[in-house]
Amino acid sequence: MSKTILTYSALRLFQNCRRKYHLRHYEYLVPLKADEVLYLGSVWHSVMELWYGEGDLDAKLLAIRNLIDKSFPDHNSDPSQKRDWHLCHAMFDGYRARYPKEDFVVVGIEQEFSIPIINPLTGRSSRTFELRGKVDGLVQMRDLGELFLLEHKSAAQITGDYIERLPSDFQINLYSMALSRFMKQKISGVIYNVTRKASLKQSEGETEEQFEVRRAELIKKSKTGKSSAKRKLPESNEAFRERLKEKYYDPEMFYREILYLSDEDALRTSTEIWDITKLILTARRENCWIPNWEACFKFGSKPCMYWPLCRSNNNPNVRDNFYKIAPPNEELVELEPEPIF
Ligand code: SF4
Repeated sequence: MSKTILTYSALRLFQNCRRKYHLRHYEYLVPLKADEVLYLGSVWHSVMELWYGEGDLDAKLLAIRNLIDKSFPDHNSDPSQKRDWHLCHAMFDGYRARYPKEDFVVVGIEQEFSIPIINPLTGRSSRTFELRGKVDGLVQMRDLGELFLLEHKSAAQITGDYIERLPSDFQINLYSMALSRFMKQKISGVIYNVTRKASLKQSEGETEEQFEVRRAELIKKSKTGKSSAKRKLPESNEAFRERLKEKYYDPEMFYREILYLSDEDALRTSTEIWDITKLILTARRENCWIPNWEACFKFGSKPCMYWPLCRSNNNPNVRDNFYKIAPPNEELVELEPEPIF
């Protein structure tokens, strides 16, 4: 019997909320409307994949421009697509300028792994689960020849907190341990490659009415009873592009951290994964998927994607109107049976 696939995302979902894990991995539900923030992040990953992939410079640049254009097909008419389309182009242009040369060579892109989940106490493999995933990139440092994962992130903020938490990031610890076991080669750590998403907005200008209200206010305050105010016109695409370009001249829009991960880190991560599988087995056996109401609004102001369903006590109309069925672990493709390295 084939084993149940666990990925980083699946493990993370279970840790955050068991009900969420069940809705995604047993009922296969996803919202009909894609999350814009997650979508932008996935486009950025695809941009990085092309940038560090094979091919000559001109071909890559063309492919990246096409990718961004195709990812936001309605950028001429839809305001949110237009914003993200401008942003992605500016992020990429800024990124190229910021990193004209790299201290590493790319060994692999979107490298997949598949490994048994091992009980760290007995060394035995789980009969129920296997661990699979895909890392953004694998690179080799030019100086010492060490292998590192290259993980791309796009983030609204790069705060001290964000950086402080990186060594405990479950995802990079898991990927490093898993790929190292899959390839049977030591991976020294992770290059955490963060690009900030500028929060600039293209000005929409004023309507005639808004202008008249503002002008009347200014006249009221003016000693002469007059105002030379002019109506604010919408910001042109060119002007907005220029503002974004300038924003990305700022080196603080980019951040890289090299983290070394030890054998103790790998053992701790393996133990954590094993412990989660035990909890999943218990939940499965008892068919008990406890909701974690603390997690519903955990990520900023946006609720969890299943909030409408949970809030409605699993109302079938909500289920039919807001969700569709999609296979889990869509990010994975069929693996070759043997490691490629
Ligand atoms: S809305 Fe809350 S309880 Fe429901 S799945 Fe999401 S996190 Fe869990």
